[in-house]
Amino acid sequence: MNQHFDLVIIGGGCAGLSLAYQLSQFGESCPRTLIIEERADYTIDRTWCFWDLEDPIHKDLAPYAWRKFIIKNNHLTHEHSCQETPYLMLPSDIFYKNIISAIKLNTKIQLLTGEKLVDEVIKKDTWQIATSTFTATGTNVVDTRPTKTMTKKDSLMWQSFVGYEVELDSPLFMEDQLVLMDFDSSFKEGLAFVYCLPTSKTKALIEYTVFSEELFVAEQLTASLLEKIGEYTQNTSYKILRKEAAILPMGNKEIEQKEDPTYLFAGLFAGAARPSSGYAFQRIQIWAKECAFELKNNHQLKKFKKDSFIQKWMDLLFITVIKKNPIIGAKVFENLFKNCDAKTVAYFMSDHSTILDKLKIVSALPALTFLSAIPDLIRSKHRLDRSS
Ligand SMILES: Cc1cc2nc3c(=O)[nH]c(=O)nc-3n(C[C@H](O)[C@H](O)[C@H](O)COP(=O)(O)OP(=O)(O)OC[C@H]3O[C@@H](n4cnc5c(N)ncnc54)[C@H](O)[C@@H]3O)c2cc1C
Repeated sequence: MNQHFDLVIIGGGCAGLSLAYQLSQFGESCPRTLIIEERADYTIDRTWCFWDLEDPIHKDLAPYAWRKFIIKNNHLTHEHSCQETPYLMLPSDIFYKNIISAIKLNTKIQLLTGEKLVDEVIKKDTWQIATSTFTATGTNVVDTRPTKTMTKKDSLMWQSFVGYEVELDSPLFMEDQLVLMDFDSSFKEGLAFVYCLPTSKTKALIEYTVFSEELFVAEQLTASLLEKIGEYTQNTSYKILRKEAAILPMGNKEIEQKEDPTYLFAGLFAGAARPSSGYAFQRIQIWAKECAFELKNNHQLKKFKKDSFIQKWMDLLFITVIKKNPIIGAKVFENLFKNCDAKTVAYFMSDHSTILDKLKIVSALPALTFLSAIPDLIRSKHRLDRSS
């Protein structure tokens, strides 16, 4: 292959495929696009969850929805309704299958799997793309590769988790309610909790999550996960159907973009991850739609939208409070859901909150705890901005 493309997307994961999908919807007006993806096959490697509000993109693909959720802290269980904004789960295999089918209907897009692009891309007249088996050129490049290995100093906090999808012989799970956070005060190195998504009476995805300054690989959390799975399955025997794990940034220093506006870094580390939760799926979808529109109409790339000043500082303050004291952090989450309706919290977590929603969130939180965390926040923000 030695062809020219209007757009080359490096990495056909969530961000790369989402952008290509939005472009594919333009039919004949779709720019000529090449996607280069390292993996040879797409399998279920993750599940994406998001709240059902303001008509989320690809909501129709999500096969699971919960209208009730539970928060557990200090042996107390609080049940909350999210009838108005159900919590949705989209397994990645369904996303990949549907999105790739839609992309393949548009002959202007080529998806090349099993191809790894290792080097930095250089520009002569156009961007030069070369793997061990092919070369191509591009007018624009969207690069969604994670740029480097992550270290502690790259983010104010990290969300590390490991989860198993398990199947039981007997019907033990309550499939109509998920456990959003079941705090584990015995974990001392961060705020730890179990997240349990039952997809039937016998099947559930159970995850052990830690919010911490440190990064934890799956093996470090597996013993805690197995102990909790024992509790959730009442120590009956179970089959492990699949595993997933991740380390997501919470308040990371964004990738520095190139000066040339025809090259864009995108995805998890380029502004997609929401600082207070690490979640990124819907933010990626919104960016993909806007970027596709901009490419088609103005032949330009569009960066991730920056969070509003208020939202960013609320998020960072939230993280700082949790980081200072995980026990208080658990209480803060417990009170947030007790004092605010689920809809307000869901709107806040999904970037859709109004000033009134934000005020409701602020009034649900302990003012003194948050005010006293401001100096710590300023110090760690300076540290993060200075780190390279
Ligand atoms: C297990 C897990 C669960 C998650 N759950 C949620 C959730 O519930 N809700 C939510 O909002 N977010 C969630 N996230 C966070 C976020 O939505 C995902 O990480 C999302 O996939 C990020 O999209 P991305 O395109 O940046 O990265 P990816 O989807 O990882 O895509 C990057 C792609 O680039 C490819 N690649 C890498 N290097 C090269 C190379 N050199 N050459 C070619 N291709 C390359 C990779 O193979 C990959 O396909 C989760 C993440 C994980 C890992």
